[in-house]
Amino acid sequence: MTAWPVDYAGDHTIAAEVEVHGVGLHSGAHCRLRLLPSTRPGYRLGWLDQPVAQAQPLSPAQVCDTTLCTALQLGDRRLATVEHLLAALAGTGVTRVEIRVEGPEVPLLDGSALPWVEAIASVGLQALPSQATRPEPRQPVTVHGGGGFVTALPAADLQLGAAIEFAEPAIGRQVFSLLLTPARFVAEIAPARTFGLRSQVLQLRAAGLIQGGALDNALVCDGAQWLNPPLRYGDEPVRHKILDLLGDLALVGLPRAQVFAFRGSHRLHTALAAALAAEHAPLPA
Ligand SMILES: [Zn+2]
Repeated sequence: MTAWPVDYAGDHTIAAEVEVHGVGLHSGAHCRLRLLPSTRPGYRLGWLDQPVAQAQPLSPAQVCDTTLCTALQLGDRRLATVEHLLAALAGTGVTRVEIRVEGPEVPLLDGSALPWVEAIASVGLQALPSQATRPEPRQPVTVHGGGGFVTALPAADLQLGAAIEFAEPAIGRQVFSLLLTPARFVAEIAPARTFGLRSQVLQLRAAGLIQGGALDNALVCDGAQWLNPPLRYGDEPVRHKILDLLGDLALVGLPRAQVFAFRGSHRLHTALAAALAAEHAPLPA
């Protein structure tokens, strides 16, 4: 078993490169992604068919679509569904890595962050001598919309919470919160899978979206029951919301903050990441 860092104080990269491939949720296309060790700060993303020098540091400013997943615009290309990979990197304590992609989307795998955690665990982490810099809100930051909000309060470490409310009795109201550590992320959040409602899934399919979605990579809710039980946790949907929140916040780095999302969405999560990035940015010289 991999020994994860005890907390997020240090800087880590991966000990060796690792490659993962699979189908993209929205495009249905086969996509390939390679993670490489790096000593440069943050996460840098580029394409497998382009020179390494063209890789760019990830930032909330690259978010171009948040309809069903978080998609980034990098130069003239787009990369969709980055959130579960980024959650796995940030959640396990990886602060520096190079990401190289082939295809329009990050593979969905089983719809959770667990396969990414397993890929990271297969090569292990390498501690770096530097000290991770993390965003620290100086005052409460809140963004709201669509009947929900996400708020970040200054705190010594990262506490994440989420609440969801659905009319479907199988989901209903769920609340979950935790003081995040790499071990708790791996045990309590990473395995939680994407979920959707049967009615939405049928509509999206008919509209030509979620071509790679299937009953083995998303939990599908049909009113009072799940089409593909068993769940990994009784409250798997709200845990997946925390996974998505973490993945979107990873665009700016794990904040020293207490973050709570009520009926959160990728739009709200990434708006919060952008607000934290604006605060975190070095003052102009
Ligand atoms: Zn998700």
